[in-house]
Amino acid sequence: MVSIEQLNSGHLPSWCPGCGDFGILIALKGAIAKLGLEPHRTVVVSGVGCGSKIPHFIKTCGFESLHGRALPPATAIHLANHELTVIAIGGDGDGCGIGLGHFMHTMRRNLDITYIIQDNEIYGLTVGQASATTKKGTITKSTPHGTPEDAINPPLIALAAGATFVARGFSGDIPHLTSLIAQGIEHRGVAFIDVFQPCVTWRKDLPYSLYQQKIYKLEEAGHDVTDWEAAVARARETERWPIGVFYKVQKPIYTDQIPFLREKPLVKADISNVSIDKFVEEFL
Ligand code: SF4
Repeated sequence: MVSIEQLNSGHLPSWCPGCGDFGILIALKGAIAKLGLEPHRTVVVSGVGCGSKIPHFIKTCGFESLHGRALPPATAIHLANHELTVIAIGGDGDGCGIGLGHFMHTMRRNLDITYIIQDNEIYGLTVGQASATTKKGTITKSTPHGTPEDAINPPLIALAAGATFVARGFSGDIPHLTSLIAQGIEHRGVAFIDVFQPCVTWRKDLPYSLYQQKIYKLEEAGHDVTDWEAAVARARETERWPIGVFYKVQKPIYTDQIPFLREKPLVKADISNVSIDKFVEEFL
């Protein structure tokens, strides 16, 4: 059993004071501690962005990849050894911009991994450009006359792509977010969690107080998590912003459907009789 303190890496985040990433980091550590996951059997994989520095601040295995590419290495790590717990994480620019294709394909494959989007509706690290989740009409450094495009809705994308666990949390409600991340990790299949994460530097028009005023909890609203159409309707709400589990169902996971992987992880395969030379020759 690992405590939250034991998950401290010794490296301190350089995020702006008040950044929502702090809440997400605490919630992620809290979920790992709550589930009693062993740090050396847990892998946190990220892309590039303010929040994508998170593997540096948590004492598990980690991998910081390229921009928009958290999910390909997370998929590879999972397929190499699906006995590990794999958690991919990155911002909205990372996952809904350059990484959108990976996001959708990971959802439809129902890999048994968790994907968290730190959704602050802005490119923070590159100092304040509109992202794919920035709402239409928002004035940012790159859109001085207001964003002309409609925003992407991450939970709706996940639902449309076939995700079997879809949720949304708020970095300002750490106990609730901790519970959602723990539920996502425990879910057998792909789990997607969108997290409202205030960027206190570049989105001063989206302060904590506005989230607190707008959000409500699905578990207090009689929402049926097995009803896909109800989940879609909740995800499309704009006047009030639901957080909690939108959708949760069980379906066969990817590795159950590959005969070899059903028996054991790839890393446990006996390759003593495999001729590597034969494969190399094939590609020469
Ligand atoms: Fe957080 Fe925004 Fe600062 Fe980046 S720029 S660390 S997202 S507050």
